[in-house]
Amino acid sequence: DICILRIGHRPERDQRVTTHVGLTARALGAKGMFLASNDGGVKKSIEDVAKRWGGDFFVENNVSWRKCINNWKSDGGIVVHLTMYGLRLTDVEEKIREEGKTKKILVVVGAEKVPGDIYNLADYNVSVTTQPHSEISSLALTLDHIFEGKTMNLDFPDAEMKIVPCEHGKRFEN
Ligand code: SAM
Repeated sequence: DICILRIGHRPERDQRVTTHVGLTARALGAKGMFLASNDGGVKKSIEDVAKRWGGDFFVENNVSWRKCINNWKSDGGIVVHLTMYGLRLTDVEEKIREEGKTKKILVVVGAEKVPGDIYNLADYNVSVTTQPHSEISSLALTLDHIFEGKTMNLDFPDAEMKIVPCEHGKRFEN
């Protein structure tokens, strides 16, 4: 199982990005997101989408990032911190995938500047391209690589909304 820890979220400016971190995580097969800030609005908007589109993705608001990481590790999980300064994803993904067969994975993404401790607490500091971009794109690529593309077309149970892919226009199943 994979969960996300979102740190550094500033309610006055990161709402849209953090919501998209959560929706991306859900769409690509993560189980839930821990938010290391207090923003009930973000939790609500992700959970509203999750309710309509199915599955049971969770958002836990206002966690302490340090406790979250420590709990995760004491449960036997591993911590993958996404940072452009880390090792190349393509060099470590196989090892992470192998460990992920028996251990749960916490993927940590930041906003502006990440507390220095995270680099030491993480089992893997992973860079997606070694170029600066964003938490959304780095998360999407990391999940797609770790899952080897297998979560690209997930079916979500109990969905009220389901799209039927079509060449032009919009089609929903009802
Ligand atoms: N300059 C910030 C720093 O030094 O930590 C990073 C800011 S970036 C807008 C926000 C987040 O996107 C980072 O904390 C990281 O999780 C993610 N990110 C951005 N580029 C990345 C990359 N090339 N590889 C992995 N993660 C990346």
